Amino acid sequence: MEQKEDLLKEVIGHAKEYGFVFPSSEIYDGLAATYDYGQLGAELKNNIKQYWWKSMVQMNENIVGLDSSIFMHPTVWKASGHVDAFNDPLIDNKDSKKRYRADVLIEEHMEKILQKINKEVEKAAKKFGDAFDEAQFRATNPNVLRNQEKITSIEDRMRTTLENNDLDGVKQLIEDLEIVCPISGTRNWTEVRQFNLMFSTEMGSVAGDASTIYLRPETAQGIFVNFLNVQKTGRMKIPFGIAQIGKAFRNEIVARQFIFRMREFEQMEMQFFVRPGEEMQWYNHWKAARLNWHKKLGLGDQYYREHDHIKLAHYANAASDIEFDFPMGFKELEGIHSRTDFDLKQHEQYSGKKLQYFDTELNQNYVPYVVETSVGLDRMFLAVLSASYKNEVLEDGSERVVLTIPPALAPYKVAVMPLTKKDGLPEKARAIIDELKFDYLCQYDEKDSIGKRYRRQDAIGTPFSVTVDHQTLEDNTVTIRDRDTMEQIRVPIAELHTRIEAKVSWRSLLAN
Ligand code: ATP
Repeated sequence: MEQKEDLLKEVIGHAKEYGFVFPSSEIYDGLAATYDYGQLGAELKNNIKQYWWKSMVQMNENIVGLDSSIFMHPTVWKASGHVDAFNDPLIDNKDSKKRYRADVLIEEHMEKILQKINKEVEKAAKKFGDAFDEAQFRATNPNVLRNQEKITSIEDRMRTTLENNDLDGVKQLIEDLEIVCPISGTRNWTEVRQFNLMFSTEMGSVAGDASTIYLRPETAQGIFVNFLNVQKTGRMKIPFGIAQIGKAFRNEIVARQFIFRMREFEQMEMQFFVRPGEEMQWYNHWKAARLNWHKKLGLGDQYYREHDHIKLAHYANAASDIEFDFPMGFKELEGIHSRTDFDLKQHEQYSGKKLQYFDTELNQNYVPYVVETSVGLDRMFLAVLSASYKNEVLEDGSERVVLTIPPALAPYKVAVMPLTKKDGLPEKARAIIDELKFDYLCQYDEKDSIGKRYRRQDAIGTPFSVTVDHQTLEDNTVTIRDRDTMEQIRVPIAELHTRIEAKVSWRSLLAN
């Protein structure tokens, strides 16, 4: 645990030092939980967006993109349920004066019990060695069973109290579980209150004429209200999807953990419209497809786990999270939700317009069901950055910090370096960049020793470094160094493009 907390600090420090992420308005001492993406961060973020967009829109004939506005008619949020129900239950500790989400406090308590179970299983696995049957152990060990029952009963109580908006019941549960404030260590809690997460502002400049509008808390509604526009103009046939990347805003009660939870963030959402009754089949399809999309990045399968929801949002009939092992532990990275026909039906009701599809095969009109995939771009960024950050001790005892960012996502793909600043080597290096820059973001670097320059590229995750030396002038060969293996080989300049492409191309990521 200790080590992982250090990792988050190191990643934040590294991200700032190399121009990935800066605190926002830093010269004014920053604004809580708001960050700016720097010169390298903007590149990495754009590349993550491209990976998502290409895999959704370019690779699927029946998915198209959209870019809807952040401001929407206020009734949208009435219809979607956000005005009445987009709340988080909050609770304060009277001693530390710290504010918490009541449901998160309870979930963290359950996570601790789960850890106990896992420890028990690990201990037994060590004791019994090869003969260990984990499934049987989990099904029969009294300690495991007792703890599992505890979790189930807490889950049940949490679900019913939250679903019934029984805030006293939530408080009672926190008291019964003897949950203490992590800061003060006391159980001196306030009542639980609901807090709406939408930011609002006024539109219009004439006094009295202004109306309250909201900053969208999700990009999904822009897709729903355009469902028929896209279906008709794009001649889309069900099943089909609409994808969108854009900013969303939530006045989070507790915004912290770097870019994991911010009040302004970006989402990559896709709404998939299906025949009523076929939603579970598509829900399972997208659950598997999205997990596969993540795993193909090659960060390591152990970073992912799936978590099926117990507390369903007001619009869903099934929901699951893909969780990632962030430096703070396993947390939600992406949500896959079966949203039924809730949103379209609500918009039909509130707008008075029909939002139906005529299915020529069934010869029938219906309001489609929707399966949504929703991933936070900033959380993806943190996932990639934290899993790529490595502090390595090399064979000769020296150390290096390297970002093993998946090559297709790396900000710079190649650095080109003249061995010395004279004898025409810089010109030769620039000529190589002039060729490669049509396809790749390249960096030119002539300062310091080659060793130092390699370290700088390792620290920003550049997959290749190319060195131009005197031999290059004679035979047009260069050395190319691989970031991960640190191997250097001599190759003709004419081969550079093919070698780089083999590693950084989108094809390798997008192919199944
Ligand atoms: P959480 O439980 O962590 O608050 P959520 O379940 O409210 O998340 P969704 O409404 O499902 O999140 O939003 C979809 C995705 O948007 C999430 O999986 C997450 O990646 C991202 N996201 C949500 N809230 C934030 C935030 N405050 N900062 C950054 N990303 C966020």
